[in-house]
Amino acid sequence: MPSTAVQPRTVSELEHQIGLVEPESLKLELDQKEWDLLQETTLKYARRMVKGLATAPAYGYRDPNEEALSHHPITEEGMPIGALMELLRTEVDTLGINPASGAFLGYIPGGGLSHSAFGDLLAALSNRYAGFFFSAPGAVRMENLLTRWMASMVGYPENSAGFLASGGSIANLSAIVAAREAHDIRARDVERSVVYLTSETHHCVDKALRIAGLGECHQRLVSVDAGFRMIPEALEEAIRQDGASGLRPWLVVGSAGTTNTGGIDPLKALAAIARGHDLWFHIDGAYGAFFALCPEGRAVLSGMDLSDSIVLDPHKSLFLPYGTGALLVKDREILIQAHGGMAYYMRDALQGVIGDSPALMSPELTKHFRGLRMWLPLKAHGLAPFRAALSEKILLARYFYELIRDMECIEVGPYPDLSIVAFRYLPRRADPDAFNTALTRAIQLDGRVFMSSTRLHGQVFLRLAAGSFRTHRHHVDLALKVFQQKAAELEAC
Ligand SMILES: *Cc1c(COP(=O)(O)O)cnc(C)c1O
Repeated sequence: MPSTAVQPRTVSELEHQIGLVEPESLKLELDQKEWDLLQETTLKYARRMVKGLATAPAYGYRDPNEEALSHHPITEEGMPIGALMELLRTEVDTLGINPASGAFLGYIPGGGLSHSAFGDLLAALSNRYAGFFFSAPGAVRMENLLTRWMASMVGYPENSAGFLASGGSIANLSAIVAAREAHDIRARDVERSVVYLTSETHHCVDKALRIAGLGECHQRLVSVDAGFRMIPEALEEAIRQDGASGLRPWLVVGSAGTTNTGGIDPLKALAAIARGHDLWFHIDGAYGAFFALCPEGRAVLSGMDLSDSIVLDPHKSLFLPYGTGALLVKDREILIQAHGGMAYYMRDALQGVIGDSPALMSPELTKHFRGLRMWLPLKAHGLAPFRAALSEKILLARYFYELIRDMECIEVGPYPDLSIVAFRYLPRRADPDAFNTALTRAIQLDGRVFMSSTRLHGQVFLRLAAGSFRTHRHHVDLALKVFQQKAAELEAC
């Protein structure tokens, strides 16, 4: 480090000081040889990882005390790229769940398309500033083309608007902020305001309400039917009672595919009730909305167009890598009113078509150029393989359901609306909850497939979620085989 004890003042002193730091600083730009080595090493690593997915474990476990990352702290000296890839392999890419694997059937899988990865690479290198139309008209047009495409899939009109978010949680938060502004809920109104959801609503909605300063709203958990879908008559009754007792019914949150079981709320009926009482109707379609691209999904998803706002997660059922959610709001003015912002240093950026700029419709200012990771796979593949892959996921879930529904010792949850099957083993002697908890862990540690567990009506169930574009019939067959083997082993001991 050059000495900074005496602050240089004159031009020649400054020239001298700049001359001292420039050579080191120049190292951040690669020369041809360094670029070639970086490209070759990382792409070789990537290629081997993707090829290895067919046999790689869906879950990797190691004693948490055995780790090497913290033995390599950030220091002044660099390390060779080959050694860094080796650290990445042993310390990151072989531990925990493997969401890129087709055998990963836990939570909500997606996979992570290769075209998206290369799109990310290009977006990171060009570093296009996708917040403002002025800064990157092409990048912003690309993002807006994608939100328009999603809007037309959902059935929203031309003057709807939206943006690509980091995920469903932030998209839901932004929707709730838009709904709050649209209904002019001020601090003094919060304690009187009522939100309608169900026990199955994703917990990010509760979190979003708290972040948005609405944590003290009443949250009415409306009753659900046997398929865990909101019962419209119960919603209507709750709104009526709350209105009569002087409260302020405000927001209905419907799920287009719950995370637990994939159940879809009766969207049309909920929309009609919300409209009848002048409530905002938001749909959380983070898991399920993209299934509208296939006939099996479209058949169960009608009514999305009747909402005021909807969240979709391209990093779930459009198979993108993590870091891509989306919010669409039917009335573009509301979205802009809720999220617009302005500073003097942005005056150049506010020229042109203001409403087209994501920074004026979302909480983020500077952000990753997310459009490219979504546009590239959609344009390169065309929609047909996406539609087929989504049909396949629903069919796989129904196939698995039919395989196990009449099996002895198995209890199934609701018939899958989408691509999730909940089921549990009924042990001969042991406590079912303890048994299925142990069974889930045994399957996870086995590693050939990964499934997660949940509770339905308070009881522990396993979940098979077919969601990755890499998941095919042989994975589902393997999941059943591993389930049966592990259950038999646990029964024997
Ligand atoms: C995953 C999920 C979310 C949260 O989205 P993130 O992308 O994980 O932030 C919200 N709602 C539902 C229904 C989900 O499945």
